[in-house]
Amino acid sequence: MLAWLVCLLPALAFAQTDVALTPGIARVALAPQLGHYHDQEDADTLAMVWRRVDDARMAPLPGGAEAFGFQRGTFWFHARVVNRDPHEPRWMLVQEYPLSDEVDLHVRYADGRVRHFAGGDHRPFAARSVRYRHPNFSFELPLGAPVDLLVRVRSQSSMQVPLQLYTPKAFTEVSRDAQLAIGVYYGIMLALFVYNLVLWLWLRDASYFWYLCHVSAFGLVLFTLNGLGFEYLWPGAPWMADHMVPISICLALVAMLQFSRTFLELPRRWPPGNVLLLALMLFFVLFGIASIWLPVRISTPVASRAVLAGVIGIVIATIVVLRRGYAPASLLLLAWSVFLLGTAAFTLLAFGLLPKNFVTEYGVQIGSALEMLLLSVALGHRYAALRQENLRITAEANLRLERKVAQRTQEVRSALLRLEDAHARLRDSSRRDGLTGLYNRTWFHEAFRDLVQQARQTGAPLAVLMIDLDHFKSINDRHGHLAGDDCLRWAARCIGRILRPHDALLARFGGEEFVAALPGCDLADAGAVAEAIRRALGEDACTSGETRIRVTASLGVHVLDPRTDAGVDEALGGADGALYAAKANGRDCVELSSSR
Ligand code: GH3
Ligand code: MG
Ligand code: MG
Repeated sequence: MLAWLVCLLPALAFAQTDVALTPGIARVALAPQLGHYHDQEDADTLAMVWRRVDDARMAPLPGGAEAFGFQRGTFWFHARVVNRDPHEPRWMLVQEYPLSDEVDLHVRYADGRVRHFAGGDHRPFAARSVRYRHPNFSFELPLGAPVDLLVRVRSQSSMQVPLQLYTPKAFTEVSRDAQLAIGVYYGIMLALFVYNLVLWLWLRDASYFWYLCHVSAFGLVLFTLNGLGFEYLWPGAPWMADHMVPISICLALVAMLQFSRTFLELPRRWPPGNVLLLALMLFFVLFGIASIWLPVRISTPVASRAVLAGVIGIVIATIVVLRRGYAPASLLLLAWSVFLLGTAAFTLLAFGLLPKNFVTEYGVQIGSALEMLLLSVALGHRYAALRQENLRITAEANLRLERKVAQRTQEVRSALLRLEDAHARLRDSSRRDGLTGLYNRTWFHEAFRDLVQQARQTGAPLAVLMIDLDHFKSINDRHGHLAGDDCLRWAARCIGRILRPHDALLARFGGEEFVAALPGCDLADAGAVAEAIRRALGEDACTSGETRIRVTASLGVHVLDPRTDAGVDEALGGADGALYAAKANGRDCVELSSSR
């Protein structure tokens, strides 16, 4: 008796009322007036359940929620409707969840007539009253008479039964809006896909490729979840309708994980995270394959839970890489967070832990659309960052190159200077006499030619002094050649000192003979200079070791008149002639000669 009372209690507590379809009502959610019965053993026949309905032994929806999570057995739902609208004889019952395997509607009229309709994705798509992604049934509701609607649902998918009654007009309007929303969603997906496809073809960056895989696989997940896969891709294949949910989820996660690995450059930036994501990828690959054989009742909830694990793994990797200073990871983190929120909302709805509303029902769509949008932005951001980095590296390399070039130029320049210096020294030494350091005869000839030229241009006189040391052979004979060399050096210094104020060109002409050119000197001046030289040599003596050696010289002076044609040879010849005359005059004297 007590047991009978306990059985009766829920029914007593649940005063199931008729659903009155009064004029003005175009759409009714049946949930508040819905009685339900869960036949866990799958044992009751239709007649038994009708009896249960007639005995008012149906229970209300637990907490008013029409989602039960993944359940075994058969669910029965009952509502009694009375049509009080004379203008709406036809109504539609819509099961607004596309993945239920079998949905059977039994309509029992007041006269005892029962009509049966079958729907669900284990039945051919064409059996639906209206070609639409949600199972739907169209039937007559006579005016004023109560009609019993008994719905039987069996499904390996999540048990969700958002049953709605619509007038045909209201259904058309609502489905139109829903299709528009879905169209917008896939429009965004398609635009992102094409945009990133073009970028991938241009840039050939692996991240773009994996992004494309992710978008495609995710599009497939949602196509399946929305019931569009069954409607458009596999309308005659209930196996696909069931199994594509876990399989496409696994595909999407493999692409998502691989995308994250390449985007975050995990192998380089965080090797342990790379291993973690690879392990997750391996799981999804294996589980995706296993889902081909596993019952959907097991594979779908496992795959749904694993999505959270996969995304959390990615979020952790993103945070670590972000903390290590990789800026593009910040947008990625935002994208995953949005996606995680949306997916969490939908998952909690599937397990019956959150009420059904726009945000929970379309959580995955909203979250994933935002996620993919943000990922696309992140890809752009990352590309910009890479380009920036490349520019920086190029600029640095250029700077280093410029510095190196400047350094090399400096080295080359100083080497050139050294070379020039060496060359100058070499050239100078080729002009000099090794013993005395005076210019040599060859150079004297060259320089003297220029002086003759200048004298002709300016009209100024040019004096030539020929100086020959007297009896030098006997100095060598008496004191030795080394002492003779000392005397030559001493005489050169002495002559140079006398000539210094006169801007003269002095050279060793050969042996013990010197020659000097004095521009602008007339015969009298030149004679005076020659006399000064002779005196300077005669007044002093050369010190060679311990000995002092007296050295005298004979000098021939010749002045070139620039107005005549006389050249180098005449000038030197003139001076040489005067020198001979000096020698002939007894030496240690000056003789003058002039071309005039
Ligand atoms: P004179 O008064 O007529 O000029 O008699 P001299 O002996 O000076 O003339 P001579 O031409 O007969 O001899 C020149 C000598 O000068 C011969 C040579 O040995 C010497 N002599 C030439 N060049 C050098 C040199 O570089 N070093 C030394 N020590 N002697 C030299
Ligand atoms: Mg001599
Ligand atoms: Mg001589």
